[in-house]
Amino acid sequence: MSSEKSTTSKPEPERPPVIKKRKCLMCSKDFTSQHLGERVCNNCKGTSAWRESGYYAA
Ligand SMILES: [Zn+2]
Repeated sequence: MSSEKSTTSKPEPERPPVIKKRKCLMCSKDFTSQHLGERVCNNCKGTSAWRESGYYAA
């Protein structure tokens, strides 16, 4: 079965993207988070330390 969209009786409005400023978990600098699961800046995402640390959005 592949139901990507659940059909509900009530039409739900699309959620706007959650773009807000956060503090990077790795370097504690302010950065613009593009979504809820993003907690480190792009700088730190590129580092191997980030990949090994396992700060994944659950
Ligand atoms: Zn950072």
